[in-house]
Amino acid sequence: MKEISCKLLVIGAGPGGYVCAIRAGQLGVDTVIVEAGKPGGTCLNVGCIPSKALIHAAEEFEKVSHMAGGNSPLGISVTAPVLDLGKTVAWKDGIVSRLNSGVAGLLKKAGVKTVQGWATFRDGKTVAVETETGTQIIRAETIVIATGSAPVELPFLPFGGPVISSTDALALSEVPKKLAVVGGGYIGLELGMAFAKMGAKVTVVEALPRVLAQYDAELTRPVVKRLVALGVDVMLGAKAKGLSKKGDALLVETADGKSVEIAADKILVTVGRKPVTEGWGLDQIDLDRAGKFIKIDDQCRTSMRGIFAIGDVTGEPMLAHRAMAQGEMVAEIVAGDKRSWDKRSIPAVCFTDPELVTAGLSPEEAKAQGEIKIGLFPFAANGRAMTKLGEDGFVRVVARADNHLVLGIQAVGQGVSELAAAFGLALEMGARLEDIAGTIHAHPTQGEGFQEAALKALGHALHI
Ligand SMILES: Cc1cc2nc3c(=O)[nH]c(=O)nc-3n(C[C@H](O)[C@H](O)[C@H](O)COP(=O)(O)OP(=O)(O)OC[C@H]3O[C@@H](n4cnc5c(N)ncnc54)[C@H](O)[C@@H]3O)c2cc1C
Repeated sequence: MKEISCKLLVIGAGPGGYVCAIRAGQLGVDTVIVEAGKPGGTCLNVGCIPSKALIHAAEEFEKVSHMAGGNSPLGISVTAPVLDLGKTVAWKDGIVSRLNSGVAGLLKKAGVKTVQGWATFRDGKTVAVETETGTQIIRAETIVIATGSAPVELPFLPFGGPVISSTDALALSEVPKKLAVVGGGYIGLELGMAFAKMGAKVTVVEALPRVLAQYDAELTRPVVKRLVALGVDVMLGAKAKGLSKKGDALLVETADGKSVEIAADKILVTVGRKPVTEGWGLDQIDLDRAGKFIKIDDQCRTSMRGIFAIGDVTGEPMLAHRAMAQGEMVAEIVAGDKRSWDKRSIPAVCFTDPELVTAGLSPEEAKAQGEIKIGLFPFAANGRAMTKLGEDGFVRVVARADNHLVLGIQAVGQGVSELAAAFGLALEMGARLEDIAGTIHAHPTQGEGFQEAALKALGHALHI
């Protein structure tokens, strides 16, 4: 097969890689992207998009089920709904496949050449790709590693049979009657709550003393309350130990050292994700590491000249929009622009019920830097939240006490994921409390909670 030479080679077409390639193509850089699977990577195929589709379907099903129970304060009554998960999954697959084609089309439009297959480094400038029709050698001046991440497997609970990963959970044809979730982080709880809404009896086994331990307890309290309302059993300080002999139960050591069995048709293991650093010849190029990740500087350069790395393979937070922002920056650097990582915040959303959003510093982190002011506005005092039966939750703004510069913003509540844009913008633009308080927020919206939280921090909230 004829060798290909290009200026830029991107390995992996997840959100990091495909954005990098599109932007490079737009800037006239001769670019090739290699992908072993489908365009869009984890995020589009087995992550962000399919999980949010399933979560939405579960939400709708639960809403109607609640109405069928005769409990709707809205005065709506319906007969009991039926869920055909196979159909739901087919609908989700349709969205994924439309987006796959969309990404492929955008790459083509930007003039990027796509090579399908698994890439392996031969040296710092050469990659061999195993394609359907043979080995394709690609030589490039610059290479971007965007190989992403994969689910962590527990050695005593290997994936297979009843033990499933998040990828398998998104492709089930039936709702398990009993689902055990190992790991109470954001992926485990997003999926666990969705299956509970679809009718599964869910048990979450978490080794730490709290679920969603990366968030503060005040922020996660409404989620914990909702877990109880959905009938999800949460075992804290408990350790998964393995599968029962019959394969129909999860063996657990409880916080007080007792051994118990949790009956389960499926055991979903969501104990984290690991960077994909094996199988593509990292040993050939011997890059410096930061723990298990590839070490990068503020331009995403690795320890070898001409090789960049972006996205999940470079560390936390492992989020699609961080990967995309890095990809865009690297493309511009390769095209000759002066760029470096200067972002003030990478907002994070947890699509549990209710949703969580964080941007910038938490109150604890901010306190460590000096004196702060905090303003918290509850959705119980927000008209729009009431009309949506979404009174549980709040917006919290954290600012410097001396000059009121906003350092962090957090929210928990129904549908607050859409506030992430406002929070990110405020931090990126260096807003002060007065800027947010002085901006007219449309009424009635949950966004008013943001303005009120800033007013509260200034000592003169209007609606509490
Ligand atoms: C269930 C779930 C839900 C999630 N929800 C969210 C969310 O709501 N919001 C959010 O921001 N993030 C979410 N994430 C995380 C998000 O998916 C990742 O942060 C994001 O996909 C990382 O992008 P990336 O480009 O670094 O890598 P990836 O998306 O992992 O893509 C890497 C690509 O590289 C390819 N590849 C790897 N090695 C090679 C090779 N040698 N040759 C050829 N191709 C190769 C892989 O096939 C893959 O397609 C979720 C993840 C999961 C699992």
